[in-house]
Amino acid sequence: MIILLFGPPGSGKGTQARLISEWLNFPSLSTGDMLRSEAQQESELGRKIRETLAAGQYVSDETVNLIVLQQLERNPDSGLILDGYPRTVAQAIYLENALLERGFPPPVVVHLDVPAEEIVMRLSSRASCPQCKRILNLLQNPPRVEGRCDECGSELVRRDDDKPEVVRSRLETYVRLTGPVIAHYTGSNYLLFNGNRKPDVVFGEIRGGLRPHHEHWLNDR
Ligand SMILES: [Zn+2]
Repeated sequence: MIILLFGPPGSGKGTQARLISEWLNFPSLSTGDMLRSEAQQESELGRKIRETLAAGQYVSDETVNLIVLQQLERNPDSGLILDGYPRTVAQAIYLENALLERGFPPPVVVHLDVPAEEIVMRLSSRASCPQCKRILNLLQNPPRVEGRCDECGSELVRRDDDKPEVVRSRLETYVRLTGPVIAHYTGSNYLLFNGNRKPDVVFGEIRGGLRPHHEHWLNDR
């Protein structure tokens, strides 16, 4: 059983991946994790990935597909949670065909949706003190004097990455790249969740949505 996780940066996807992984006892893998792990293998694929990474090049779609297939073959009786894959519609179609050929059910998609402005607020609420290097969240943990460090009184600064306009631009890139992949999935295997609530509330709904799929998979094995 393959669970595909989709959600923009700042949607809490990492937390949900961990909770689903603990609940079902499925490993949760990002494409980066799989690449790093395969690069350590003395396989032809491992060597190819090492060469590509050493040359500072991007690993091709085809290589990523092969790695995902290997993961499936190594864990035929387990499920997998994949984060960051597929990245393209072509990869999505490839995955479906590969699952079908091996008699595995189609993937179940968990899509965490959070309004863009909420994400901008979450990510742009981080600040740090240039003097004592403390990092704080201005929403959860506001300083006593606005914009000033509680410890030394220095003016708090924000990382460029966390500036609202940079967060907005990252979100636009995410929607442009991932939108068509998510739109590819419809029907009963596509589960959409409102991620704009407390993590345990979101997880409760995800668990409810995944449970019938999981039971069906257990019965069919
Ligand atoms: Zn300070």
